[in-house]
Amino acid sequence: MTDEYFEKIIPYIWGIEAGQWILPGELNEKFDILMNDVSMILATLAEIGVVKIHYLSLCDDCREPIGEPFEFISDFIDNVKCPKCGKTIERDTSIVIFKKSGETEPGTPYEPIDDPSIEKQFAELAMLGAELSDIFH
Ligand SMILES: [Zn+2]
Repeated sequence: MTDEYFEKIIPYIWGIEAGQWILPGELNEKFDILMNDVSMILATLAEIGVVKIHYLSLCDDCREPIGEPFEFISDFIDNVKCPKCGKTIERDTSIVIFKKSGETEPGTPYEPIDDPSIEKQFAELAMLGAELSDIFH
């Protein structure tokens, strides 16, 4: 993990419009940076509110996204079935995606926002960390 990675990704993230989704896998491909490093950069940006963590449920078999992204893992709904193949969706096939929080002017510092939900999200992530090692993938 080097500053070079931040230097590659930060201008890109800053240039994204508020409300846009950021998929870790796309950054991994676009910038040729390891998923672990992409996840760490995005988690760092989520801690200061530049991006917001969301979860997206995927079908384990056909990888179809199921329903809408949700902010807290505790909001996962049990016993939903994949509309395509009928498989029951498990919480541990959810992935973390990120949403750009607000407008950022490229090249300007970001004013961290005070959002109590960030703390809750990181508490959940810390609890899940060991359990769901693939959550960022
Ligand atoms: Zn399916």
